[in-house]
Formats: sequence, C-alpha cells, structure tokens
Amino acid sequence: METPSGTQSARPSARRVHRIGFVGLGIMGGPMARNLREAGLELSVYTRTREKAERFAAEHGARAAATPAEAAQGADAFITMVPDAPQVEEVLFGDAGAAAALPEGALVVDMSTISPTSSRAIGERLAPGDFVEAPVSGSKPKAEDGTLTIFGAGERAAFERALPLFEVVGERIVHVGPLGHGQMAKLLTNTMGAVNAAVLAEAVRTAKATGLDEDAFLEVAAGSAGASGMLNLKGRPMFEERFEPALFKLEHMLKDIRHTLDEARALGIELRLPSLAESLYARAAESGHAEEDFAAVYRALD
Ligand code: NAP
Repeated sequence: METPSGTQSARPSARRVHRIGFVGLGIMGGPMARNLREAGLELSVYTRTREKAERFAAEHGARAAATPAEAAQGADAFITMVPDAPQVEEVLFGDAGAAAALPEGALVVDMSTISPTSSRAIGERLAPGDFVEAPVSGSKPKAEDGTLTIFGAGERAAFERALPLFEVVGERIVHVGPLGHGQMAKLLTNTMGAVNAAVLAEAVRTAKATGLDEDAFLEVAAGSAGASGMLNLKGRPMFEERFEPALFKLEHMLKDIRHTLDEARALGIELRLPSLAESLYARAAESGHAEEDFAAVYRALD
C-alpha cells in the first residue's frame, strides 16, 4: 500500500473479506475479477450480458448471478466496474438492485470512473462508512497483472476494510481523501492523458504527411522533449492506424473529459486544452470510433 505520506507495506493475499459480489466483466472488470478469484475469494458475478457471466463462472469457478441482488446475497463486499454513474446506480438501486440485498455492514466498492458529484450522491444513499470509491489507472495490462493504481476515497476505516481487495488488484494504492476526491484525481489524470494523446495524434499525422520514417521518428521522439508514456503506448498504433482491440474505449475517455470539464466549470474554472480535446474525441466518436481504443482520436483529424 502507498499512503499520501508514501509508506509502503507488503502485499498480503485477500483476507477478512471472503465473499465478493462483482459486477461488470469488461476490459477491466474481467481480469480484476479473475485475480480476486485466483487469490482465493468466493465470487458471485453479474454483468449485463448473461452469457459473459456464465462463461466467466465456468472458467474461473465463480457463481453466475442472474441479477445484481443475487450477486449481493451473502457478500462481505460488493464491487462495481461498469461504465458510468447511471450503470452504478442501476446495479445498486434499480430493480433487483444490490443495495437492498446486501447483508448489513457489507462494503460497497465502486471502481468505475464516474463524476465526484455522482459518487458522493451514491455514498449518501448507502449506510455511512459502507461505501468506498476506488477508480483505477493502468488499463488492461495492469488489470491483468494486478498492478493497477487505485485512487481510493471515503472514510479511512472503510478504505482500510477494502485494502485486502485492493492489494490483490493494485500496486500503488492511495487514500486520496473524502468521497469525490479519488474520482476527481482520476479524472484529472485521465484528462491530462487525453490531451497528451490528442497532441500526439496531431504530431503523428504531421510526421506521416511529411513522409518521416516511422521507426526513426518514434526512436528520436522517445528521447526528446516530446517523450511520454503516451508516446510509448500509442505512437506506433497511431502511425499504423490500429485502434482495435480497445484497451480503453474512446467513449470512456470522452466521458472522463466531460466529467472533468463539468466539475471544473462548477468551480468556476474553464479548461481550455481539455475543451479542445473534448471536441476531437467527440468528433471521432460521432464518426463511428466510440468503441475503438482512445488512440482513435487520430480519426478526428481525417
Ligand atoms: P467495458 O469494457 O465497456 O466494460 C463495462 C462492463 O460493464 C461490461 O462488462 C458491461 O457488460 C458492464 N455493464 C454495462 N452496463 C451494465 C449494467 N447496467 N449492469 C451491469 N453491467 C453493466 O469498460 P472498461 O474498460 O472495463 O471500463 C470500466 C470502467 O473503468 C469505466 O468507468 C472506465 O472509465 C474505467 N476505466 C477503464 C480503463 C481501461 O483502460 N479500460 C482504465 C481505468 C478505468 P457487458 O459487456 O456484458 O455488456
């Protein structure tokens, strides 16, 4: 674990919480749930597409639930990893929602990226101290390796109850502050990444139009003032215009930029570069690239 003061501790296997209800088996949720199962936890899984839950259950020795309420029955902790707040709310409070079915004192952990405002509202609908927000960074490879960065927030005691789970799926685990602060930190970092990817797309586009050699350009750029993790990850896919399979869907990046813009606006701050990036991601989404990797922001330049 890493606290804001930087204290590290060893990575124990999950204990204290044994029975988990887990909802959302997508790009991130699938490998996270698998890691929890491999750490010895009992898992009851639900996702929108029934067959996916049944396939996961058969492959990993979990139970496939027919509803979120069924996944919640008998759970010590209930984890959501779905696209946005409307889906988290539906899973928790909709018809056959989990909240009413959870045993008293069970912990709810939302690991989706949603707006801080929505996260605080969800926390208010649950018993005090039973809700932790914990959006993540790291994309599919880190979800698979169990090395995600976790932006935890909420009451410290609730965060600590969730730690054994976080230590299975994450590596850099930080309690950022009260509810909303984990989401805000996550949104800001994703928005920085989104702006970076957009300017990278413009650079690659111009490099290609100039006729620059792909390997030579990527090599010198990696040792330049323009070097970045984003260049390492997305430079070549952009050069080669390969945006599938998605590691992080463009529609989710657009969602995150929009949440950041809304939150900043509520604080009286106009974010100029993210606003420009929003228009590029929106154009790429509108022209059919929403479910491709966010590197397809490159398509907005077509
Ligand atoms: P994804 O691949 O689109 O997966 C979303 C999952 O949620 C799918 O399994 C989907 O079910 C399920 N779902 C959607 N609506 C649902 C509902 N109403 N009830 C139950 N399940 C529902 O997305 P992802 O990439 O895993 O991202 C999940 C969250 O993590 C998002 O908030 C995203 O912003 C965030 N995130 C993603 C990454 C990344 O690199 N991918 C990194 C950090 C954070 P079906 O597939 O069965 O339809």
